[in-house]
Amino acid sequence: MISEEEARTKILDGVQPLPPRQTPIAQALDCFAAQDYFARLPLPAFDNSAMDGYAIVASSCKKGCRLRVTGEQPAGPDRKLRVGTGEAVRIFTGAPVPQGSDAIVMQEDVTRDGTGISVNVDVEAGEFIRRRGCDLAQGQMILAKGERVRATTVALLSSQGFADVIVGGKPTAAVISTGDELVKPGDELQPGQIYDSNSVLLSALLQRCGVSATAVEHCRDDRESLGDAIKRGMKNDILIISGGVSVGEHDLVREGLCELGAKIEIWRVAVKPGKPFLFGNIGESFVFGLPGNPVSTFVTFLQFVRPAILRMMGATNLDLPQVPAKLAFGLTNDGDRPHYIRGRLEHEKFTPIGRQESHALFGLSQANALLRVAVGQALKPAEIVNVQIWDW
Ligand code: AMP
Ligand code: MG
Repeated sequence: MISEEEARTKILDGVQPLPPRQTPIAQALDCFAAQDYFARLPLPAFDNSAMDGYAIVASSCKKGCRLRVTGEQPAGPDRKLRVGTGEAVRIFTGAPVPQGSDAIVMQEDVTRDGTGISVNVDVEAGEFIRRRGCDLAQGQMILAKGERVRATTVALLSSQGFADVIVGGKPTAAVISTGDELVKPGDELQPGQIYDSNSVLLSALLQRCGVSATAVEHCRDDRESLGDAIKRGMKNDILIISGGVSVGEHDLVREGLCELGAKIEIWRVAVKPGKPFLFGNIGESFVFGLPGNPVSTFVTFLQFVRPAILRMMGATNLDLPQVPAKLAFGLTNDGDRPHYIRGRLEHEKFTPIGRQESHALFGLSQANALLRVAVGQALKPAEIVNVQIWDW
């Protein structure tokens, strides 16, 4: 049995970033930039109006003054209008500010009559003008290599005229759920059977990493079906097998992998839940064997599979976000493995939730954070601890 740190190092040394590729920005969500990006344009790109109103000269515009409206500038092509003393140009939000004007007065603050307006407020220079470059300077970094592309990132890239972005590759992944007891949701249960929940759990977790499973299949605990399923699954960059990785007579995964020429790099890690975790190579594929208890599947995916996927995708930060929280009650770990406690993080307080056992799916479903309690650690009530969050 090796430590979590050793396991993580071995895995991350094993996997390499996939070759970068160019993708339309609309498809780049949750990918990772493969190069730094810099602003091509300042934002705003030109001085423009923040309001629907009138472009005026502030020094000639006191409360009660009357101005002649000499033209109109909507958002769109610059009509190259000019504003002089005693004049106003009708203007709309986002429209370029006419030459000579140094402030916008809101339409709510004027009374329009015929060809002119009466201004009902004092106006200061600069009012309601969005200055060129005040948000973003040309040449400023807008996206760093290894950073995740978010909804707001694609918006920013678009604002800079980028139609495509170069991002890290996306691994293909297959999921195999093993177990004679498993039944597909929707089918009828016989006594002793349970519904397969890991297939959808793993698909969902993959999706959260920006990867969609190319194949998800159930496989019985027999050598032949398992061998066939592995042969199909190993055509992907990543093969995730749930269950059958422990030491019982019906746990055939390790043997099945070895028969097909897999090199097992890791089997059994000092982590609770998830001890029988397995990692290796088979053909061109990285294979992860996750213990079948749903909480073990979940914890080992987040601690070992997720960082590997993110590394393949070219991410810089492979860790789950961590936040400090006040512990609702004391906890000790008298066991021989670090224990990931499932809990609910709310208002900066972490409350362990449900049964802390590896089969306890309901408690897991109510949790949104994990607290790692090291071997021998004794945490006091109200102590500030760092928790990992996955659902925010
Ligand atoms: P195993 O890792 O195959 O020894 O399975 C450990 C426990 O997890 C057993 O109670 C299994 O019934 C359960 N289990 C295995 N696979 C799944 C699955 N896909 N969905 C829900 N429970 C599972
Ligand atoms: Mg099993």
